[in-house]
Amino acid sequence: MELWYTEQHTENVRFSIKVDKCLYTDQSEFQRIDVFHSMEFGNFFTLDGLMMVTEKDEFIYHDMIVHVPMATNLNIKNVLVIGAGDGGTVRELTRYNTIEKIDMVEIDKMVVDVCRKYFPQTACKLDDPRVQLYFEDGLKFVRSKENSYDLIIVDSTDPFGPGEGLFTKEFYGNCYKALKEDGILVNQHESPYYQEYAKSMQRAHKRISELFPVCRVYQAHIPSYPSGHWLFGFASKTYDPLIDIDQQAWNSLGLTTKYYNTEIHKGCFALPNYVLELLANA
Ligand code: SAM
Repeated sequence: MELWYTEQHTENVRFSIKVDKCLYTDQSEFQRIDVFHSMEFGNFFTLDGLMMVTEKDEFIYHDMIVHVPMATNLNIKNVLVIGAGDGGTVRELTRYNTIEKIDMVEIDKMVVDVCRKYFPQTACKLDDPRVQLYFEDGLKFVRSKENSYDLIIVDSTDPFGPGEGLFTKEFYGNCYKALKEDGILVNQHESPYYQEYAKSMQRAHKRISELFPVCRVYQAHIPSYPSGHWLFGFASKTYDPLIDIDQQAWNSLGLTTKYYNTEIHKGCFALPNYVLELLANA
């Protein structure tokens, strides 16, 4: 008998992956965690029935959430990562020798434990000496921070359940306060393609653009996420990713990346007209 993992993307759309087996299933204090193995995507895990990470395409998401801000300011030293329990974002950050400190705040320790076991290739740098793990709510964690970070990366679940607070005006305001005077905020911004996701993206964009003088949106193609068309938000107090990218300097670091390159950096901010319209009407 064939086994299929099926995720409901909208009321009328479902996405299915043929799986060999379910490797793990449990309910944490915050959410249900399932890990599957598939021929096409390798191991993948879901939280409350929504796709988080697959072995096959995680490089796209993690390259784009990390290297775009890092290439914009190569002097980033202190980073706050919120969510990101799989460790992929931290793995990419630790490749920069210039980074001195990474605080990672994940609400659910069980996600980290499960990823250490089933996703060793993403969780492999969580024990880097520069990384400090905090198991708490990111919303509460940033409240007490001021002028502390060069970069904040919000690598969260969708805006419901434990991730809901990470899309609020209060949270973005506290991120602004927690950032230094030239700080950068990057967050996963959902998909523009299906209405429900697009609405979340519009809300987040509006809230962030009311706070930060530089506010841009960039895109990537992530096959395992709803519609495959995914957006990221880039906000900053001074740096503009299109003006301040130093292609030569980033290339001279010699980092090997499977998705990101400095041409993608420039190109990913060019958005389709329907997305520009959504942003203009946010
Ligand atoms: N790449 C993924 C995506 O876009 O779907 C996100 C992956 S990462 C696993 C998301 C993490 O955010 C989850 O492990 C979840 O537990 C964590 N998270 C959700 N709400 C949080 C909160 N309020 N504070 C800290 N972490 C949170």
